[in-house]
Amino acid sequence: MSATVVLLADQVLTLDAQATVHAPGAVTIEGTQIRAVGPPPARPTGDVLDLRGCVLLPGLVNTHTHTPMWVFRGLTEDVPRGEWLTGRLLPLEKRLGPDALRRSALAGCLELLQNGVTTIADRYGHMDAVATSVEASGLRAVVGHSLFDRSAASDLARSEALIERLGTDPARARVWAGLAPHATDTCGPDLLRRVRQLADRTGARVFIHLAQSEEEVATVKAGGAAGCASYLDGLGLLAPDVVVAHATYLTSAEADLVGARRTAVAHCPSSNAKLEGRVAPIARMRRAGAVVGLGTDAACCSNGMDLFDEMKVAGLLNKVAADDPAALPALDILRAATSEAARALGIDHLVGTLEPGKRADIVAVRTRGAHLQPWHDPVANLVYAARGSDVAAVFVDGRVVVRDGRPVELDVERILADATQAARELVDARA
Ligand SMILES: [Zn+2]
Repeated sequence: MSATVVLLADQVLTLDAQATVHAPGAVTIEGTQIRAVGPPPARPTGDVLDLRGCVLLPGLVNTHTHTPMWVFRGLTEDVPRGEWLTGRLLPLEKRLGPDALRRSALAGCLELLQNGVTTIADRYGHMDAVATSVEASGLRAVVGHSLFDRSAASDLARSEALIERLGTDPARARVWAGLAPHATDTCGPDLLRRVRQLADRTGARVFIHLAQSEEEVATVKAGGAAGCASYLDGLGLLAPDVVVAHATYLTSAEADLVGARRTAVAHCPSSNAKLEGRVAPIARMRRAGAVVGLGTDAACCSNGMDLFDEMKVAGLLNKVAADDPAALPALDILRAATSEAARALGIDHLVGTLEPGKRADIVAVRTRGAHLQPWHDPVANLVYAARGSDVAAVFVDGRVVVRDGRPVELDVERILADATQAARELVDARA
């Protein structure tokens, strides 16, 4: 393809401030950027890619995931509250080395791409090895090496090395580094102060799990803090450059505090429902000023790395939580997977909408399946009826990475064989 490519589609959802829709529509890509969005040009210049039968929308942005945990899918089911993390997950995690994590992460990235995700916030141990998979996948990503008190010195050194290697500026690299302290109960004040200083010095965004379990809340309170959110606030880590994941067990006052500090929140409704039987106080945090994006969490938390699923579950659970079927309208949910998710990650100047000057991260979704017709309401259909398997094409930085539902540059069979082999070794080692 030449440097200029015109995508033609039945409909283009820009998700710009007015949520402008063009039907039929076209997006002109020049190099890595979107040059024009609007009705199909009378005489297109450049190559034309015919995506009629599809709707185009901004590439989906996943604000919280752990791609290396792909290998654990199905191994942590129906666990009583309070036992999931230490009782089930940690014993599994101890069995995996960096090579298995790297293989598993590539399968996770592959799944996400096929489901129309173009950007992820990925965090885990051994991120130096995992990041090579994320880079190879073609995804846009911010990656962070998890930091714990128990291994603080080496975790800080590895985080700094990752920052050195990848930088922290999303405008300068497709994969860049963030800082990823694990959670409020596994990171004491000394470590979190170091994280705050490092973030201020390097410009790295901070990613942390917040109030994801009752045990976490109890541990933080036993340390003398009023709660997980006020603990973070006292360390300068409720802020617009911090993305807190889950925020499940917050009091109303804490939810207000998260919002008042304009903190970004990664909402993972499937994971919260499945692992905790809970819905996070998202409506309250949003009302108070928080920026909320959706996240799939890991494949053993939600069982699917599919933001279409996550959008539907977010709508359903938040309506139930609010006892109000009008709560969390579909457009707000679609934005939480695109424009607002990009804002949560601090990359809304680059992606999250289809507008001239933005990077060409675009998803084409087939609309002609029986489960998507009639196409009266594109937003409602995308949120409540579409599936990751409806994705026809995906572009990142103007490059086609998925076409006809298949990754263009990734060897799907080899990647899945490598990762399922790692999964078999994991189960055999457990036996
Ligand atoms: Zn997580």
